[in-house]
Amino acid sequence: MSDSNSTGQTEAYLGDEAVAAGALHAGLSAAYGYPGTPSTEIMEYLIAQCGQYGEVCARWCANEKTAAEAALGTSFAGHRALVTMKHVGLNVAADPFINGSLLGIHGGLVIAAADDPGMHSSQNEQDSRFYASFAMIPCLEPRNQQEAYDMTRDAFDISERFHVPVMIRLTTRLAHARAAVVLKPVREQNPCIKIKDKTEWMLLPVFARRNYARLIEKQESLSAWSDAHPVNRLEMEGRDTSFAVITSGLGGNYYEENLEDLTALHGKAPARLHIGAYPLPLNAVRNLCEKAEKVLLLEEGQPFIEEKLRGILPLTVKIAGKLKDFDGKSPGPVVRTGELDPDNVRAALGLPPLPTVLSSLSIPPRLPNRPPQLCAGCPHGDSYTVIKKVTEELDPAPNHPSVALTSDIGCYSLGASPPWQIIESIVCMGASIGMARGAAEAGIPYAAAVIGDSTFLHSGMTGLLDAVSANTPMTLIILDNSIVAMTGCQETIIPSAKLRSLILGLGVAPEHLVELEAKKQFVEENAALLKKEMEYRGVSVVIFKRECLEAARKRLKRG
Ligand code: SF4
Repeated sequence: MSDSNSTGQTEAYLGDEAVAAGALHAGLSAAYGYPGTPSTEIMEYLIAQCGQYGEVCARWCANEKTAAEAALGTSFAGHRALVTMKHVGLNVAADPFINGSLLGIHGGLVIAAADDPGMHSSQNEQDSRFYASFAMIPCLEPRNQQEAYDMTRDAFDISERFHVPVMIRLTTRLAHARAAVVLKPVREQNPCIKIKDKTEWMLLPVFARRNYARLIEKQESLSAWSDAHPVNRLEMEGRDTSFAVITSGLGGNYYEENLEDLTALHGKAPARLHIGAYPLPLNAVRNLCEKAEKVLLLEEGQPFIEEKLRGILPLTVKIAGKLKDFDGKSPGPVVRTGELDPDNVRAALGLPPLPTVLSSLSIPPRLPNRPPQLCAGCPHGDSYTVIKKVTEELDPAPNHPSVALTSDIGCYSLGASPPWQIIESIVCMGASIGMARGAAEAGIPYAAAVIGDSTFLHSGMTGLLDAVSANTPMTLIILDNSIVAMTGCQETIIPSAKLRSLILGLGVAPEHLVELEAKKQFVEENAALLKKEMEYRGVSVVIFKRECLEAARKRLKRG
């Protein structure tokens, strides 16, 4: 790391907060993001703390794409910028993210992407290291809170040194666990700069081709940087070099928890390489594997290192990981889905399971299943009662495709659970609207999309514009609870009071924009109005309005 002096001061940070503090202490000027578990707490910390660091802007944005674009603008002006998102948010930001790697980055630009192996609160397990590799930019993968702080602070220097964006990849357990972090001095912010070569930021084909060639040229220096990075630690001295282990991220911690038993079993600890900085440190990998007959890979997420190694190591080196075992045929000994943990890493290392309190009991206790539920009295419950009533009336014959009810991502996704069980799709942010349009145009007579107010603002508006342009016979049902509830009640990008004029501005006919109060006493009345709009053969929008209970509780607490 470039700046190893410490202030001697320590703070107990979540992994997310360590990223935020690392950015602030690196001389951050602006941070932009969209809430999404497990990344949300990065921006929450920045919004709460940035006032102590002078002129630092920290803002939620409409979505991850607009956040990444704002950060590009900050870097363009010479300042240091951070963008925060969860892994699937990176799909939304992919356009500016990938193209950003072709620009001559000015102020350090860092993308903090938090992955969710095990899908605790996500629709997939994608691994952001693939995105960094795809964009050909460096990626830093901390395995504790101190590294999250140090690496983020360092990432701005790396970005300015190589003129590329840099990714910090977190995973859920690190993002949401707290540990002490030793702090370093706070740096000055960069001054604004006047751009000298405007073509560096202009991706017209003639300049983009040149910039792409420059990015490819940088790969050799990035590879050398990665090989020299102290976090990519190679341990060969006094080790069993015939059996090697490569760890990354939290896999390194779980490996170390089992190292004593592993050493006792084999009489020697295996040779080991821990990888925390990418592109892959190829020299270190080759040095480790020169003598190794077998290499076990312990990485959190998808088999990113394993896939690469299977392509670069000679066939004489046997590799085991998530994809395959040492025989090259059987399934890998490392869990393919979900998170690594000390026990499944132990099993992958060939160690017997440790006795637990539960395993010592003759009858293990049965813990009740606790599926997620809406808060008691949640306004979405009253909206779904109405939607269920209407859709059942319009779709009386079981299995006859009269109604399609697509949904989106938020607390209201629980419309899939009892007692409603009526929504039929959850794919990605904003998809409900386009899907309802497609289903309607495929011939389903009563197609409706259910979406929250913040998801509509995130990426639903363009889908509605499409439906309006085609005058598709469908109904958009917005469950407006005036907050981004699922991620902890962040403010929406504009207040709900502006939703009506926004929707009218997108071209919805005023007589088919209906606002309803999501309350029990209005079930019959609301059902009649919703049914009327679903029977209308054009685009209609029905907004169910009532504040989220959790948001109301927080508002009252704040006074
Ligand atoms: S947090 Fe708000 S929107 Fe989510 S379930 Fe609870 S009351 Fe409903």
